[in-house]
Amino acid sequence: MSAPGPAVLLVEDDDAARAAVATNLVARGYRVFQAIDGREALRLWESSRPDLVLLDLGLPDIDGMAVLVRIRREATTPVIVLSARGQEKDRVDALDAGADDYLTKPYGLAELHSRVGAVLRRAVGPAADQAGALRVGPVTLDIVRRAVRVGDVPIELTPREYELLKVLLAHAGRVVTSGRLLRAVWGSAYTEEGHYLHVYVSRLRRKLAAADPTGAAGRIIANEPGVGYRVVEPDAAPEP
Ligand code: CA
Repeated sequence: MSAPGPAVLLVEDDDAARAAVATNLVARGYRVFQAIDGREALRLWESSRPDLVLLDLGLPDIDGMAVLVRIRREATTPVIVLSARGQEKDRVDALDAGADDYLTKPYGLAELHSRVGAVLRRAVGPAADQAGALRVGPVTLDIVRRAVRVGDVPIELTPREYELLKVLLAHAGRVVTSGRLLRAVWGSAYTEEGHYLHVYVSRLRRKLAAADPTGAAGRIIANEPGVGYRVVEPDAAPEP
């Protein structure tokens, strides 16, 4: 028998949804703690200190956001929020409050697994490899040399394009909100200037695509409408 799998705290008041996710996670070797409301979530958080939290935002007692804020005060444990369609504002608030990712209901179990795996892998250590490089698909960003290449082809980026790509690659697989990107690349006075991002992301995609005959490099930056951007492996299936 191998070591026990990662512990997941699953906070969801919908019995059917909770049972489906829990059964599936257990079948894949995770240990699952289940909470049906915010108070139970915090109690289980205290007693179990899970490796990851799946947190429904709409809970019957205390708000899921309050649970998130409480967890973030104490720990960097990865949190994936679960929210209903049409709650973009809630998702952005949760991501800005420190959630690592979100899933929009109804979500598929395959997508849930891929997000849980990505968030757990990121939590293990820094995104860069031993050589200080961030890699996604054919794209490599060398932090030490501040150089970017696609396959073996070096590409010229402006300092802001470089910073933008670096932040996105460092969070590969996870969504980064527009506000967070603007703060990281332009500074905190620019968090409302979403059109900057639009322009710079377009340029980045063009430059990456131009260096790759297959065009795959141009597709690693995916839009998360109303939220921000996410770097994905170019071969990953597109979102439905
Ligand atoms: Ca709910």
